Amino acid sequence: MKICFNEATTMKKSTLELDLELCSKYGYDFIEIRIDKLNDYLQKHSINELVTFFNNNKIKPYAFNALEFITFRDTNAYKKLKDDLQFICEVGTRIDCKKIVVVPSFGVGYTKTQIKEETARVLNDLAVIAEKYDVNLAFEFVGYPDCTVNTFAQAYDIIKTVNRTNVGMVLDCFHFYSMNSKIEDLKSADPNKIFIFHIDDAEDLPVGALRDNNRLLPGEGVINLDKILQTLKEIGYQKMASIELFRPEYWDWEPEKIIKIAKEKTEAIIKKYFSL
Ligand code: ZN
Repeated sequence: MKICFNEATTMKKSTLELDLELCSKYGYDFIEIRIDKLNDYLQKHSINELVTFFNNNKIKPYAFNALEFITFRDTNAYKKLKDDLQFICEVGTRIDCKKIVVVPSFGVGYTKTQIKEETARVLNDLAVIAEKYDVNLAFEFVGYPDCTVNTFAQAYDIIKTVNRTNVGMVLDCFHFYSMNSKIEDLKSADPNKIFIFHIDDAEDLPVGALRDNNRLLPGEGVINLDKILQTLKEIGYQKMASIELFRPEYWDWEPEKIIKIAKEKTEAIIKKYFSL
């Protein structure tokens, strides 16, 4: 299993440039690039500099995070979303980063049927654009009660319905745990449909009460990560694990400290089930 760093973990004090330098120093295999950090980077640097960096270093880009709230958008917002997708696909082609995380919208009142139809329609539509660049879309459900897609089973059903080779999903342990997704649903999943695996842990809050700021380093919270990793091993998923934390406390740490500790904590649990 390859180890990846998701830049949300150092949201406040770091930059793409610094994340790359530190992740390289601590031996991460991959980085998930945040689109906001990419845009900041491009204020002062060129895409060519990024190309050169990845050519000269072992660490490689794995995915972009994230195109958010892709469903139930008005005409103007949807057009902007498609423009953003096209831009990210173009950057992805240059730096050989061929996955983009896409996130459903929030809002209550839609039926599950309406959500499935809208989400499948949008994923198909965006996938046509991404396909031209050989880019894959990784759909990430969010384990909040008011997210339109908030369990593994609901997300998996949608991507199976879309049934395109360039549309899969993100399995994020935090989102999986927070709305009580079922391990049986993961057990029956096709590992090839899991494009990205986000690893993290959570504080001990009731179902529906967890928010991203309650994330913890792997092994420090209440999520049964052993069960999830065991299940991934059983179904044959072994591509990568990306550490993704949105905890303000960690954002206040020096980036080097969290990047170093996150790697150690992630490897400690991963290596119980997979070779690194
Ligand atoms: Zn995630």
